[in-house]
Amino acid sequence: MAMFIMQVIKRLPTQLANQIAAGEVVQRPSSVVKELMENAIDAGATEISLSIKDGGRTLISIQDNGSGMNAEDALLCFERHATSKIVAIDDLFKLTTMGFRGEALASIGAVAHVSLKTKREAALTGVHIKMEGGNIALNEEVVCLKGTLIEVKNLFYNVPARRNFLKSDSIEFNHIEDAFLYIAIAHPEVSFILHHNNQAIYNLSSANLKRRVTDVLGKNAGDRVFPIASETDIVKLTGFIGKPETAKKTRGSQFFFVNKRFFKSSYFNHAVLKAFEGLIPEKTHPTYFIFLEVDPAKIDVNIHPTKTEIKFEEERFIYSILLSTIRQSLGMFNLMPSLDFELETAFDLPAGFNKQPIVEPTIQVDPNFNPFNPQGGGGGKSNGFSKGIKEQGFGSSTPSEADWRSFYTINETPLPEQQQLPGLADVQSMADLLLVGRYIFTPVKTGVMMIDSKRAIERILYDESIESFVKHPLNQQMLLFPIEKTLEKQEVRIVSNHLKTFEQLGFNIALQEEVIHILGAPEILHENGVVQCLEELIDRVAYSEQHQEDVAHSLVLQMVKHAARYHRISNKSEAEMQIQRLFSCPDHTLSPSNEPIIQILAFEQLNQLIK
Ligand code: ADP
Ligand code: MG
Repeated sequence: MAMFIMQVIKRLPTQLANQIAAGEVVQRPSSVVKELMENAIDAGATEISLSIKDGGRTLISIQDNGSGMNAEDALLCFERHATSKIVAIDDLFKLTTMGFRGEALASIGAVAHVSLKTKREAALTGVHIKMEGGNIALNEEVVCLKGTLIEVKNLFYNVPARRNFLKSDSIEFNHIEDAFLYIAIAHPEVSFILHHNNQAIYNLSSANLKRRVTDVLGKNAGDRVFPIASETDIVKLTGFIGKPETAKKTRGSQFFFVNKRFFKSSYFNHAVLKAFEGLIPEKTHPTYFIFLEVDPAKIDVNIHPTKTEIKFEEERFIYSILLSTIRQSLGMFNLMPSLDFELETAFDLPAGFNKQPIVEPTIQVDPNFNPFNPQGGGGGKSNGFSKGIKEQGFGSSTPSEADWRSFYTINETPLPEQQQLPGLADVQSMADLLLVGRYIFTPVKTGVMMIDSKRAIERILYDESIESFVKHPLNQQMLLFPIEKTLEKQEVRIVSNHLKTFEQLGFNIALQEEVIHILGAPEILHENGVVQCLEELIDRVAYSEQHQEDVAHSLVLQMVKHAARYHRISNKSEAEMQIQRLFSCPDHTLSPSNEPIIQILAFEQLNQLIK
């Protein structure tokens, strides 16, 4: 008797297959950000603007000015294994693009509501496509800019398990910020904007690597890093490393890139740590931005799409080169502490430094340099640990205004010498105030007074806060929605050791194992900046503790700077108030980090301008 055996193997419907594949590519909102930013870079964009809502769970929107797509490609791009980047297997070994699998858009389209508007430069009109549940919900002609706008809404709306797995908005946003930085740092020539819940988080203009690195690290960062560079047949190394005295207790800014692709490597990290051996205290982490260029055939990027590890054929050799390059730079830096400010991206390194032969690493550090010795040593000028931070800036050599200004190459004309301190009496009439960007202009006898309102508010808040900080806690506001954040182990330790300090600063926080609950925050902070500010303060406490800085100044300054980031003057009466408050500060011409606040543009100068 013939038995009827039921066929059990079925082909998965495309949508289900895409959803399963999506699980690999799209693990959380930051994976979407990574994929879409990579696509924009691959499309040759020079401006990329990202806007995120609610940690990415409700909206991830990205606009680029890259190549755009024509109507056919715009439809094709949502199909799995549809890519313009490789055609043959060999292409995998000479990859110069970030993407190549042709899976990202198909995956994202399967687990979110996606809207795509795109136009090629030559085309008159663009195309607007909407994908819902893996199906095309709209396909029409549209008038739009050259480039591509992709909006990803309601991520995982049809995959509840994934959605429930998402962490708090702020944790998800932290991941997004990482993904953003991995790409933004590697592409300094491209300008990037990142908004979260309509708040500007980063606005990075097109720049060289130095500037990008310092823009990411923050003000005065130019003082805290030095360049590295070396070239052999196997690997070209460039980048910036934090000076030994800026090593942090928490692992903060550590970035490796190979051929402009971010990767993680505990092996190479070990090489960096080894180079710093004896120069930084144990269990501290140097900052680094290290770029490797190697023959794409000698690395394997063809591993899991969300993995950040990369296999190197010549791993051990690269380890040695990394170690010796950093040691050489450290040695050089201690001998010539101001050198890095004069160097442009093409480093003017001593003969024999470039194209070095393949040898075991040699150690060329300044033998007299001892970061733990408050007197300094060797280069002498290179550290200022024991000096009061007030005069010194954060834990580095005297932050000479001229030094870090010359560090930037873009339009930073030095301010002319000031003859006499301008005062409130110079302001002729408050009625004539003019608000332009962050500046307030007002006529004075000799010309026009220009006030940097952001620096002004730093000075005002600093003066108001520092006094009371020492005596009683700063004013606090309870948060409408308490914030929860999971901390790193080291951070937990720091917070629990310094609960009193944070209270004094105006925080109301509670620790529950590794989760910190923020119930109240200093009044001067903007609600959206609370978490980030607290993180910065945690770092700062650790740093101050380690370097015995003037903690009060350091923390209050950090917080005030944070508050100032969110500060806006929206009308004349606010401007007037600010001027009144500013001039009542004894030090009203300089910000607490010693940047000029006021400048008088004399009629002579104005006349010159119009010639
Ligand atoms: P991959 O990047 O691996 O090729 P994706 O699914 O990310 O796969 O994208 C599919 C294709 O869609 C790309 O190969 C590219 O041709 C096109 N594409 C995606 N995003 C953009 C964009 N922002 N601008 C222009 N073309 C794009
Ligand atoms: Mg891609």
